[in-house]
Formats: sequence, C-alpha cells, structure tokens
Amino acid sequence: MKNEKIFASAKQLGLVSCHDCHLLSRWPKPAHRQIALCPRCGGPLHQRKVHSIARTWALLLAAIILYIPANVLPMTVTTTLGSAQADTIMSGVSYFIHSGSWEIALVIFTASIFVPLMKFIILIYLLLSVQFKSVKRPKDRTVLYRITEAVGRWSMVDVYVVTILVALVKLGVLANIEAGPAAIYFASVVVITMIAAESFDPRLIWDVMEVDA
Ligand SMILES: [Zn+2]
Repeated sequence: MKNEKIFASAKQLGLVSCHDCHLLSRWPKPAHRQIALCPRCGGPLHQRKVHSIARTWALLLAAIILYIPANVLPMTVTTTLGSAQADTIMSGVSYFIHSGSWEIALVIFTASIFVPLMKFIILIYLLLSVQFKSVKRPKDRTVLYRITEAVGRWSMVDVYVVTILVALVKLGVLANIEAGPAAIYFASVVVITMIAAESFDPRLIWDVMEVDA
C-alpha cells in the first residue's frame, strides 16, 4: 500500500473499543486463557466480533435450511364453502398474477423470494471473500454489507401481507383464511438472517489490506 494513508485502525494502534460502553482503551494483550476486560465497565474486550465467520456461517446455513420448508409448506390455507386450498409462497404469487393483482404479487415476490435470496448470496460472498483474504473492491463489499443490514427490517413485509390477508378475509363470511405452517418457518428465516448479518464483522473486509500497512 502506498503512503497515502491518513488513518489507522484502532487495532493497528493497539487500541480496542468496548462492545458495551464503547470506551476506547489500550489493548492489554491478555495472557494465556485470560480474557481482557474493559477498565471502565468491566465487560470483556475483543478487537473483532468473536468467531464472526463461524457464527455467521452457522446462522446463515440454519436460515437457508429453514427457507426450504418456508417455500414448500403452505403459507395460507383458504377455505371457501367447505373446500380448502393451500397456497405456498410461489403459488400465492402466481394466484395474484392470474387474478390481476400484480402489485400484490410483486410485493410478495420481492419480500419472500428476491430479498431473502439476495441476502443469502451477499452474505455467502462476503464470508468467502474474507476467508479467501480477497483485496478486491473492499468499498463495494462494505456497501453490500450495508444493504443487507438496511433491507433486513423490510423482510417481514411478507408476514405482514399474510396477517393482513387473514384479517381481511376473516371479515368476509364465505371464505376463511388461516396462516399455514410456512409462516413460522419464514419468520424464523428473516430473524436468523438478521442475526447472521449482525454477527458478521465488516472490519474483517479491511483487515487483510491493513495488515502490512
Ligand atoms: Zn466498557
């Protein structure tokens, strides 16, 4: 790296920030099997999130596994005059397209298929790029990370759509709609993916580049 640096990371300066009270203190280099503690609040100090890569992988894989029943099992069960119809996410999307409500179809497709898959792909890419010590386009990768964090709170839209549908149809007399077993799996996928994104430490993207600086 050229001499154009006008910054240094806390890690390079031998400093560490406390996770709990955010005090910046000198990294005390704990002795064998000892944990460094924050001089102000006494919380354990870590220069980077602990086992960030392994933890993010584990949560991500759990989310991907749960994503299968979320798509295969019915999301809604509609009963009209005695005949029941179970709809998965995809059959729900195609139902709304065929009945002319493409806006609802688009919302469900974006929230339940596009966003979760995009988050999986981005997190897998970030994890692999850090594990293979990639030095390519760190800024763009940080932007990707920011996107996964920002869209996280919107992934629940699908669960809301189901809830609203259930509430709306319950008001009618002829049809009865209930949330299917996929709803709980889908909600778990959303929550676990959010925790996975949270457990990834974006500073790892830059650590490779700053190691010899
Ligand atoms: Zn502290």
